[in-house]
Amino acid sequence: MKIDVAAERKEILHRYKLLIKACKRRLEKGDKEKIRKAFEVAVEAHKEMRRKSGEPYIYHPIAVAQICAEEIGLGATGIVCALLHDTVEDTDLTLEDVKGLFGEKVSQIINGLTKISGVIDNTSSIQAENFRKVLLTMSEDVRVILIKLADRLHNMRTLEHMKRDKQMKIASETLFLYAPLAHRLGLNTIKTELEDLSLKYTDTDAFYEIAVKLKESEPERKRFIQKFIEPLKEILVEQGFSFKIFGRPKSIFSIYNKIKSKHVSFDEIYDLFAIRIVIDSPLDQEKSDCWKVYSIITDFYHPSPDRLRDWISTPKSNGYESLHTTVMGPEGKWVEVQIRTVRMDDLAENGYAAHWKYKESAADKESKLESWLHKIKEMLENPDPNALEFIDDFKLNLFSDELFAFTPKGDMKTLPIGATALDFAFEIHTKVGEHCIGAKVNHKLVPLSYEIKSGDQIEILTSNKQTPKDDWLKYVITAKAKSKIKSNLKEQRKKVAGDGREILEKKFYKNKLDFTLQNVNDFCNYLKLPSSLELFYRAALGNVDVKEIKAFIKFKESPPVKAHKKSEASKLEQLVTNARGSTNMLVIGDDMQKLDYKLSPCCNPIPGDDVFGFITVSEGIKIHRVNCPNAIKLLSNYAYRVVKAKWTNDQLISFLAGIKITGTDELGIVNNITKVISNENNVNMRAINFDTEDGMFEGTVMVYVHDTKHLSHLIDKLTKVKGVKHVERIDEK
Ligand code: MN
Repeated sequence: MKIDVAAERKEILHRYKLLIKACKRRLEKGDKEKIRKAFEVAVEAHKEMRRKSGEPYIYHPIAVAQICAEEIGLGATGIVCALLHDTVEDTDLTLEDVKGLFGEKVSQIINGLTKISGVIDNTSSIQAENFRKVLLTMSEDVRVILIKLADRLHNMRTLEHMKRDKQMKIASETLFLYAPLAHRLGLNTIKTELEDLSLKYTDTDAFYEIAVKLKESEPERKRFIQKFIEPLKEILVEQGFSFKIFGRPKSIFSIYNKIKSKHVSFDEIYDLFAIRIVIDSPLDQEKSDCWKVYSIITDFYHPSPDRLRDWISTPKSNGYESLHTTVMGPEGKWVEVQIRTVRMDDLAENGYAAHWKYKESAADKESKLESWLHKIKEMLENPDPNALEFIDDFKLNLFSDELFAFTPKGDMKTLPIGATALDFAFEIHTKVGEHCIGAKVNHKLVPLSYEIKSGDQIEILTSNKQTPKDDWLKYVITAKAKSKIKSNLKEQRKKVAGDGREILEKKFYKNKLDFTLQNVNDFCNYLKLPSSLELFYRAALGNVDVKEIKAFIKFKESPPVKAHKKSEASKLEQLVTNARGSTNMLVIGDDMQKLDYKLSPCCNPIPGDDVFGFITVSEGIKIHRVNCPNAIKLLSNYAYRVVKAKWTNDQLISFLAGIKITGTDELGIVNNITKVISNENNVNMRAINFDTEDGMFEGTVMVYVHDTKHLSHLIDKLTKVKGVKHVERIDEK
């Protein structure tokens, strides 16, 4: 391909001008010169580089800066850093150069960005640990994380140019880390786009299916929305409101989630959109104006009493403010209505960055962000967090909705839904948690495990004699309480283990066994205990038997033939590497019987499914579907154990797949369904299970089929059986 240098040069300048246009309003004196300088330095540094698409590399930093300006609302320093974000990592420019040219602050942020790339984009490391580092870095300057999000967004927008395995890894990671992070920072627009783009690559078929259906149903939806808002408009004008009212479609990803979690079809989702009313209102009248609008709407449409959400009086901790209600609209359909002011809408869509525009509440918002960062820091400072456990605890807090409860003095604490009295105690103070013996909720005595409801007032009862117990871990759900209890239990065990060590030493001595490190470790292995601490602990509780010691001595004298288990995983990896050969691809269904692979029962892949192999420690390679419920976790945490895999198609082997059928309980329907299945060539049923209730029936059938084509053919036929309403493939029985 011939490159037209002059045309490219022109295009680069054009994109730069668009960038300046996007951030013009926010620039102060001298800012434009700084940005120009950063632009020139970046162009020069990246001049020999190209992206995977073949375009000049500089398009990428300009695009990232554009996102920072337009969609996040960063100022000049942020734009400068976005333009330079890949220079220190990928070009000859050093951090010292950046410092000399742009000063201390810019070089600090670039340093943060370079460090993050170092830990995140490295395929072989475990993501949870990286995530921890990201958050640590983030507490230095939030702009680091905002620019990294913009960087990821642009990379997701241009992901089509990457290879399939890279696409899967990047998309999974985006769903796992970046989208929740964007959500937590209140960057709703970016979160939604990240999720939709990820889905496009992790479950391509489902993505396009939903996209097409959304498009098809659009005219009908528009007509309904028109009908819904027409009468409201008139009254709002009459009442002197300046406002916008419109329908907001749900994102493809959120529809996808609903289909998966509720096991419904696209047509069964009634809330494909919400109505949003955005009003112009001065700060001191916001609340009363929003409630006025609420009153107007509910004069027209009947509200559902349990669907009123007031996030104006009590905003969510990511800053979200809005008034939500669900009303009975025309044609007997429930419709969600969101009422908010222009300021609230801007904050909801664009997050913390937008608050700089609304100086009045800036201090308030800043302190909330601060308190969130503070919480994260607290969790990170936990001395020995198991990385994966940490991320599970943390994700729980990221995703779950929140409730709030009050101390006896009226201080409000925000906790995830499902939090208990014990969580609340740890939220107040670690010492309060550790000595907690019970609580009084609204003046009534409750146990530690009491599940808090929003608005509860809680008094924690403590005793100096109390210490954390093992089963406390079952009562708490917050990451903070969990990690504090775990580390306290560990301390307790250490103390007990000290006594246990002496007991064990005496027992060894009695049996003429030397109390050496070697013997202790071997004894541990013999008993299959994870550590000597555990062994000592057992000894302290009197759970180490003299018989066991004698048996161990015998075992030492004549050990049985060694098993090879330990090296199996690494041997397997070697085998995979060899088998991949030049195609670098594991071929399933081929005659490579020497490779020990299994089809994973969690998603029952069949030929035709998009699949990957995952190297397990003891069970060989497991084949998963890429849209398996576990895939995202596997791909983003253990990318280095993932093997690309595809099917050969010249075999006629049968694979197990699950089908779920729902419908009305017609006479003989079970018989008709089994007839369809058994009349189908080469299909065998393995298990069948039907339930009927109130005239509805639901059944699951496990069948052996050849491939996805074969399966969808069968599903088509089943859909045509009289009384059957819906047929879908399921992951498990
Ligand atoms: Mn980049």
